[in-house]
Amino acid sequence: MIPAASEAAAPVADRLRITEIFLSLQGEARDAGWPTVFVRLTGCPLRCQYCDTAYAFHGGEWHDIDAILAEVASHGVRHVCVTGGEPLAQKRCIGLLRRLCDAGYTVSLETSGALDIGEVDPRVSRVLDIKTPGSAEVHRNHWANIALLTPHDQVKFVICSRADYEWARGIVHEHALAARCEVWFSPSKSEVDPGALADWIVADRLPVRFQLQLHKLLWNDEPGR
Ligand code: SF4
Repeated sequence: MIPAASEAAAPVADRLRITEIFLSLQGEARDAGWPTVFVRLTGCPLRCQYCDTAYAFHGGEWHDIDAILAEVASHGVRHVCVTGGEPLAQKRCIGLLRRLCDAGYTVSLETSGALDIGEVDPRVSRVLDIKTPGSAEVHRNHWANIALLTPHDQVKFVICSRADYEWARGIVHEHALAARCEVWFSPSKSEVDPGALADWIVADRLPVRFQLQLHKLLWNDEPGR
């Protein structure tokens, strides 16, 4: 973990509130399996009922972007994932993403789908959640984001029930999501049987990719892994 920045270390405009920076294996989506440095920003305006990172809602420490880049570099891998919480809730996340891209990393951003992604550097692969009714936050979806998606981006649904699956299937068709970018469906842990979800996708020939989160299988979602 990097040391907290002192008050005088950097202009306030260059600082972000960080919960943790750590090296692990990317557990989901297109970069699954790559050794990856995770930069977890503090804070999230949502409260999904299945949230597994509530420890990132509060606390954290201020760090300047130069210190964050130095910590990322110390891990010696090329994949970086900026996550949260909801990283875009801190406006300076946009500058951090740009600096990471400029430094030559393969950068992904995990975002709730509730905030505008329009200012994110196009070199970043945006992994955009679409919140289902079962999340308890479906009303937070910022639907205008869908028009901004490119093949470099990804959309992720966490499915909590058969009803959630049917809702998500409708959204995939309504917005022709599979023609825009890769689409991932994963089961909400202990709410949907993974085999059942896989069967539903196959039966419907749905143009989406099923995934199980590797970090949950490997380490049961311990913080910092
Ligand atoms: S958007 Fe992510 S971090 Fe925020 S409450 Fe939902 S699952 Fe948790």
